[in-house]
Amino acid sequence: MSGFAGPITRLAGKIAIVTASTDGIGFAIAQRLAREGAKVIVSSRKQNNVDEAVSRLKSEGLDVTGLMCHVSKADHRKKLFDTAKKLGGLDILVSNAAVNPSVAPVLDCDESSWDKIFEVNVKAAFLLAQEALPLLRERPFGRIIFVASIAGFHPFELLGAYSVSKTALFGLTKAAASQLARENITVNCIAPGIIQTKFSSALTETEAAREEALSRIPMNRLGVPHDISGAAAYLASEDASYMTGETLIVAGGMPSRL
Ligand code: NAP
Repeated sequence: MSGFAGPITRLAGKIAIVTASTDGIGFAIAQRLAREGAKVIVSSRKQNNVDEAVSRLKSEGLDVTGLMCHVSKADHRKKLFDTAKKLGGLDILVSNAAVNPSVAPVLDCDESSWDKIFEVNVKAAFLLAQEALPLLRERPFGRIIFVASIAGFHPFELLGAYSVSKTALFGLTKAAASQLARENITVNCIAPGIIQTKFSSALTETEAAREEALSRIPMNRLGVPHDISGAAAYLASEDASYMTGETLIVAGGMPSRL
């Protein structure tokens, strides 16, 4: 499935940052925003992944640039925004990075794993949004999009702390949206279901795990990264101008809402 919806150019002239965008959902979002006309800044922790992703996207004729950015490192984030400035500014921030060092029920999570999960999944998302603001405020409209998870609504038992970190992003979305509502900067969130990527491989790699996952998905198929990228492009576009503080659930019908 290519996820290419045809020659839509609703993001022409826009500049976008997508974090954690050299693979999986972030890569698909970067590709889709660029296919819709945006200039996209691609990044992740490893330079070789950045180089590979940028060359794949450029080989498609897309306008992308890449740099290394580990989202919890302040100097890396600064370089990300400096790159946007050099390109002419920033219209769209997609905060997509997350980690999960603890495969355990929530109350069995050790303190260092808890700290790591909240540092990357929540604090870096908050800091990225905060640091993006001066640039977003210079534009006619701005977009902040957080990538959370269906697990934020309905915690996965063995992804306990991770699930709580994703619930926190729903709160951050609401609070930031209301702060920025009068500034023409919208803040929305996407909650993917189970999407086939490296991140979710433990949930899908054995036949038994895959069957278990499928049994929880009414549409009876796992998602693919391009199932998420169209939702991100919509939220980034003027089509979503009157929508802020919301979470789009893209999860094949999995139970959602608190
Ligand atoms: P993925 O395919 O494993 O890709 C992860 C990407 O993130 C890679 O490009 C990786 O590149 C980068 N990355 C990891 N840690 C980073 C960090 N600290 N700073 C910057 N980049 C980092 O993962 P994914 O499944 O697409 O997940 C993307 C987002 O979707 C996450 O927020 C995840 O929680 C969410 N999500 C995923 C699923 C699912 O089922 N897959 C479901 C719900 C929500 P490097 O290794 O080079 O850093």
